[in-house]
Formats: sequence, structure tokens, C-alpha cells
Amino acid sequence: MENSKYDVIVGLEIHIQTKTNSKMFCTCPTGYFQKEPNTHVCPVCLGLPGALPVPNKRALELCILMGLATNCDIAPEIHFDRKHYFYPDLPKGYQISQYKKPICSNGHVELSNSTVEIERIHQEEDVAKSTHHIETDTNKEYSLIDYNKSGVPLIEIVTKPCIRSGEQAKEYATRIRQIARYLNISDADMEKGQMRCEPNISVQKKGMWEQKGEEIVPIGKYKLNAKIEIKNIGSITAVEKSINYEVNRLIEALETNKEIIQQTRGWNANKNMTEFQRSKETSDDYRYMAEPDIPIIETSKENIEEISSEIVELPHERINRYMNKHMLSEYDANVLSTDRDVAIFYDNLFIGLDKHLKDTPTSAKLASNCITGTLFAWLNEKDISISKANLDIADLVQWNLALHSKEITKNKAEELLKESLNNNKNLSDLLDNFRKQSEKSAGNLTDIVKDVISQNEKAVKDFKDGNNASVGFLIGQVMQKTQGSADPNEARSILMKELE
Ligand SMILES: [Zn+2]
Repeated sequence: MENSKYDVIVGLEIHIQTKTNSKMFCTCPTGYFQKEPNTHVCPVCLGLPGALPVPNKRALELCILMGLATNCDIAPEIHFDRKHYFYPDLPKGYQISQYKKPICSNGHVELSNSTVEIERIHQEEDVAKSTHHIETDTNKEYSLIDYNKSGVPLIEIVTKPCIRSGEQAKEYATRIRQIARYLNISDADMEKGQMRCEPNISVQKKGMWEQKGEEIVPIGKYKLNAKIEIKNIGSITAVEKSINYEVNRLIEALETNKEIIQQTRGWNANKNMTEFQRSKETSDDYRYMAEPDIPIIETSKENIEEISSEIVELPHERINRYMNKHMLSEYDANVLSTDRDVAIFYDNLFIGLDKHLKDTPTSAKLASNCITGTLFAWLNEKDISISKANLDIADLVQWNLALHSKEITKNKAEELLKESLNNNKNLSDLLDNFRKQSEKSAGNLTDIVKDVISQNEKAVKDFKDGNNASVGFLIGQVMQKTQGSADPNEARSILMKELE
């Protein structure tokens, strides 16, 4: 969103459901997707009086793991607070969350050309799911509540207001999702609501504001323009689109002297626009108080060290390694690092190839092309992940080597790979068959070349007199006799040999 007069200021809150077997404060199972409503419930997650919450150790570890992966400081003590508000999907009348002392704070995430600062990551619990219906015969509206989701562990990752465009917000949200998946913190499946984004956006006059930590402050007598929040965005594309839409709307309002009112809006994906939900004059008063039923939990140095052993090579580290050590393009490095299973598959194929070729950039390019070409197309078409596909690294190494040595043409190689994938045939067997057949046809090709030479005395004489163009004519004759089935390079090399 280029505009010479204004700066775009965005902060992003991302909620992620972390991957635990049981809920945040009780032993009910977390897997609520497509389960019979209200079957994963107990007095704790139904908020019945007298029920006592017990924090889930694994959930806290996953929150800390996310903090470590995003360079946060980890608090020495974990404090829980009650955040009060009334809503039917919150039966206790409060959500157990963290207020002033989040588990993780002051982190950052590296993107391709920028860094996004993280203010905090805190632990909380999810609320129940309400659905709204209309009775068919009476047209009466009613709502149903499913408490299976109530109490599922949730982490909230909050950035400083340091994001400057919809595009950057999209890259950041993508990176957070990647990190969560790399570390098995969450599947972060947005269609299942496991990750939700809430940007806040304002547009300010250039040079009239500055960022001080978590705050945007005016310079001189400038009056800051109000901030807009967009709630519950369920796709990464919509993060970018909704921010761009709001920025355009806000700039237009400023240019036409319309007042900008602080408000909460929602994204309508069908209409590709944000819609007004409620205006917000002051910040909500949640009457936070320390949660009296959960004692303060200490995080020891040993705990943190143990959790940090779960950290694997992260997306930006892989991307840098692929670009700097393997000499892959930024595009290829990004594509291969998107999914950790793909990255591991690439690494294995690369190692297999480099054992033979001992040439890093060549091995890298071959492995990368092999995965991002036919393999990706096939995996997409069949809608299966690379780890579930029946792929053999050793076979693919042989296939790539044959392609690299030009023993096999690109078209033929693709044909064999597709045949192997579609019919679950062993790729090495297919390669062996191809080799036997091509030996046979090479014999045939020599005979054809000999025929062509004996039938075109003039062209042969021209060649011997130094007219190189006649070689093209002779190859054309060979191709004609084989009805185009011969490899022109092979025909040329046999022809040159026979001419000598
Ligand atoms: Zn429960």
C-alpha cells in the first residue's frame, strides 16, 4: 500500500490451539473436531461451582517452546489471572488467562527482509463453540452451545505495532504457522480454527508519530488517528486482504475529512470487505484478578533447557542454509522450507546425490527440481503429503543421476517417474528396462545412420569438404527414418562417429 503521505501501523494477535492430549485445566480430551457435541466435558470445563483447575504441564511446555523459538525471554514464574466477561460460551464468567506477567515476552521473528518484534506470548484457555439456527416451521432463532472446545489450551502471540503492510503481516503469520508446525506445537489448521488472527490497524501522517516499545506516540501536537481491530480472521490470505482493505478505507476517510471512529470489524470473505461490528470508545474493563485456585508455578533453568532440546532447525535457518550453502534461489529455498517433512526429504535426496556428484550446487539444484516439479504436482493432485507417499530416496538418486548424465532425456525421465508414482512401480526397475531398451535401439540407430550415410553421398562429401551445415541435413534424414523417435543428440553423436 504505497502512499507518500501516510504510514501504515499494524499489530497482530495470533491465537494458536496447542497440541495436547487433554484440555488446559482438566483431563477431558482435546480432539473435538466432528465429535458429538458436549461429550468431552467435566465440571472444570463446564465451569461448575467448586470445580478446581489443574494446569496442563505439556501445554505450558509448548507455550515456552514457542517463546524459545521466537527469541523471547521466559518468565521465572508462571502466574494465571481471571479475565472477566459474560458470554454464554464462557460458563465460568471469566477466562483463565495471563495479564501483566505473560510466560514469554520481548521476542522477535526473522522474515525475508524484515524483523517482527513480539511483545508477549501468553497461555489461556479456549471458550465453547456457539452455533446459531432458525427453527424451520416457526422461524424462531435459537443458539446451541457445544462445550467440547471449552478449556482447550490456547496461546496468544502479540506483536508490537511494528508491521507496516498487509504483505508483511501475511509473511509473519505464515512464518508463525510454519514454526508451530516445525516444532509440533500445533497443526495450526486454520480451516479447523486452530489458528486465528486479529490485526489492529491505524494510518498516521508520515513523520508525525514514533513507536515507543508497545506504543505509538504522536510527535508535537499531532493527534493520532483511531485504531481499527479486525476480529477472528481464519485464513492467511484474508489477513493481507483485510489489512489492505482497511488501509484504503482509512486513507480515503482521511482524504475526504471523514472522522475515523475506533471500532471492531469483521472480514467478509464473500464480499472481500471488512464490516462494522461494534464501536469501542474505551478499552474493555475485564476486572483482571490473580487466579486464586492455581498456585504460582516456577520455571527452572533445567525445565527450560529440557524444552529447548525440542527445537529443530527453524524455517528461516533452513532458508538461509539453502541459499548460502546450497546456492538455491530464494524462491526455491522458501518453497522447500515451507513444510518440515518436505525439507527433510530434500535434505536426504541432496545427501544421496552429493555422495555421487560431490558438487553441492548441482546436487542441490537437481534435488530441488525433482521435488518442486513432478513430485509436487503429483502430491497435489493426489492430495497426499510427502511423508505419506511411497517414495524411495535411493531410487530417486539413481533417477536424478541418469537425468544429470543425459543418459535419459528430461521428457523420458518425467514419463518414468509419473509411471512409477501412478502405478506404484519401482522406479529403479523402470530405469533398468529403459536402459535395456535404449541399448537395443542404439544398435538400431547405428544401422539407420549407416543407411543414411550410404544413401546421401553428396551430403557426406560436402561434410568432408568442410560444409558443417550438411550434418544438420543428415540428422534430419535419420530423424525422418526413425519417425522422430530417436534422440537428436544421440543421432548426432553416432553420425559423427560413423562419418569419421
Ligand atoms: Zn473437562
